[in-house]
Amino acid sequence: MKIIIISDIHSNLEAFEAVLKEVNQIKDVVIYSLGDIVGYGANPIDCIDLVQKNVTISLAGNHDYAAIGMTSIDNFNPYAKASTVWTANVLSDKDKKYLQELPISEKVAKITLVHASPTNPLIWEYITNIYDAKKNFLGFNNHLCFIGHSHRPAIFIKTTDEQYLVGKPDRRLDIKEEYKYFINVGSVGQPRDGIPLASYAVYDPEKNTVEIKRVPYDITVAQEKILEAGLPSYLAERLSYGK
Ligand code: ZN
Repeated sequence: MKIIIISDIHSNLEAFEAVLKEVNQIKDVVIYSLGDIVGYGANPIDCIDLVQKNVTISLAGNHDYAAIGMTSIDNFNPYAKASTVWTANVLSDKDKKYLQELPISEKVAKITLVHASPTNPLIWEYITNIYDAKKNFLGFNNHLCFIGHSHRPAIFIKTTDEQYLVGKPDRRLDIKEEYKYFINVGSVGQPRDGIPLASYAVYDPEKNTVEIKRVPYDITVAQEKILEAGLPSYLAERLSYGK
């Protein structure tokens, strides 16, 4: 069985459909989602619907909670604030209830799943470098922790002799049973690492490997929908650059 980990779909239906099309060709697969289904993009309802139909474990992200008033948007930039207000207006009561009931983290066998950080998931801390990672290795007691939130694929490693290493997310990672890992799976719907392709991770527990995959999608359609919805034009523009 292969485990697919996705995060930060951000209401980008075109990106999410492209990922699902690729992933659903794999035999014997489960999909876990690390949250931020909504926010920024123009198709929150369709994305929630597809998550419900395809995803086995679905977690909450800060934008999911923000859309239903469960976390503050004081620290959001103006674009994020505008899209939160827009999203809150279009979601049905049923969608809101779904977001409200999403868990904040889960443990499955050897892996921990969380949107931002395992130590205190509700402060939505970013783990973007080895120093952030170092503190947070104490926050989970199993082997692998999959995260999202920064929209940038990344790998941080703690070795048995307390060395901290930065991995390369653009090549296949061979997992060592005795090490601990943070794996940021990147973002399906709004990548910010300068590569405008949807991102997701494939974890193969039998081969003990993790691979970050990138998938092209119809960016133009997603952009047109953002503009038609009256969302800030910057939210459309940034998709072209993966920023
Ligand atoms: Zn996000």
